Amino acid sequence: MAEKSSEIIKFLLNMKVIATINHNIDKDTAEYIVKEFGHKPVFDEQTSFEKIKVKEKLEGDVKTRPPVVTIMGHVDHGKTSLLDSLRDTNVVSGEHGGITQHIGAYQVATENKRTITFIDTPGHAAFTEMRARGSKITDIVVLVVAADDGIKPQTVEAIKHAKAAKVPIIVAINKCDLPEKNISKIKNEMMQYELIAEDLSGDTLFVEVSALKKINLDKLKESILLQSEILDLKSSFTGQARGVVIESKIDKGKGPVSTILITNGKLKKGDFFVCGDTWGKIRAMISYEGKNIEEALPSTPVEILGMNSSAFAGAEFMVTKSEDEAKEMMKYKKDNSDKNKILAKDKTTLFDNVKEKDELNIIIKSDVQGSSEALKMSINKIEHNEVEAKIILSDIGMINETDVTLAKASNAILIGFNVKPNREAKRLAEEQKIEIKYFNIIYEAIEYVEKSLSGLLEPD
Ligand code: GDP
Repeated sequence: MAEKSSEIIKFLLNMKVIATINHNIDKDTAEYIVKEFGHKPVFDEQTSFEKIKVKEKLEGDVKTRPPVVTIMGHVDHGKTSLLDSLRDTNVVSGEHGGITQHIGAYQVATENKRTITFIDTPGHAAFTEMRARGSKITDIVVLVVAADDGIKPQTVEAIKHAKAAKVPIIVAINKCDLPEKNISKIKNEMMQYELIAEDLSGDTLFVEVSALKKINLDKLKESILLQSEILDLKSSFTGQARGVVIESKIDKGKGPVSTILITNGKLKKGDFFVCGDTWGKIRAMISYEGKNIEEALPSTPVEILGMNSSAFAGAEFMVTKSEDEAKEMMKYKKDNSDKNKILAKDKTTLFDNVKEKDELNIIIKSDVQGSSEALKMSINKIEHNEVEAKIILSDIGMINETDVTLAKASNAILIGFNVKPNREAKRLAEEQKIEIKYFNIIYEAIEYVEKSLSGLLEPD
């Protein structure tokens, strides 16, 4: 740039980043500085790793892929029962006992020979954790609500998580075999969460089912397919495969074993790959039915053997052309993460939020409904030209682990009003470097949000 290095170091110092002339800075920061100094950044040749990363355009044999569904809902409303019953309807595997292998996901065939993939990890934490790691694998959320119990705290939590991930929701009203069912009450209550049934002139699909008596399971599957048609899910069925780790474990005899959900391309036995912080070669692939298979296509879950070490759930999986390429990518990843470490710890998340997004996500936990409402209203009133304050969750009670995970996943600021985090949340926040801001005066909380919007906050 023909600028004095001392000027740049000074500039970095103002951003509270301590660097010397020998330090590497990451691409985003470099780009920012170049622009701040009034120059135009020109990017160097991308490495092959980055080239593959940006290659999102679908090539090859592009076809409609099966939808990937996660079941969420309040405890005891029947998530597990529903998954089990749906698995029983599977005409592909025929007998239920045939599936001995538990691989964290499985596929169900519908009457008209279409397929649906279910992720077998019911629970919001799993859903949000995957998202926190940058992987969006769920296309549709089926929200289970017990007909005799109605909307409960975890139902609301599930709605918020699905909405934050921008994943469409199908409501399955379960236990409809019970005489105490109250369907219209549930439909009415759902309206306040913008889930409006078709018979109330909305466009959310509601299906009345019974997991126990196996009533209307076909209708639920039809609704899932209908929703997936709207989403127009497409992937390439040829070319180097990509995917996401759903589950990982170390098997005593087999070594690291992971379940991968293929998102694009065709995975074949013998392929080399990189995955999270590790790499390997596919030695064997096992289907959800426990069969050895030679190749796997998009939306298919497969258990793979041949990873050099265990990869975390949510890690990105990517086939490489050769062993050398896999090794080169690992090296690149490692070097890059070392470089980023220098800056990562000094970076302020708020600064990033505003720089990259035109929406500032906010999570508020407060002690009482009154203050929660007051805060919400005042924040919604704040006007800003470029950045919009968006409250993705406002709730009563202590800050818990789920709040921290959601903050991480949504890149949100986390505000505690007259509340503290519990011990697990505090630990997780430290681990994930999520800053929790505490206030007991509304005016101060608002001022903080306003400053965050303008990017005016001094980095900590
Ligand atoms: P989860 O906690 O959401 O996974 O719920 P479970 O699947 O474990 O179900 C909780 C309880 O509800 C169990 O005792 C089930 O037998 C019962 N249950 C699940 N589905 C139905 C249903 O359709 N009708 C009735 N009557 N009971 C059900």
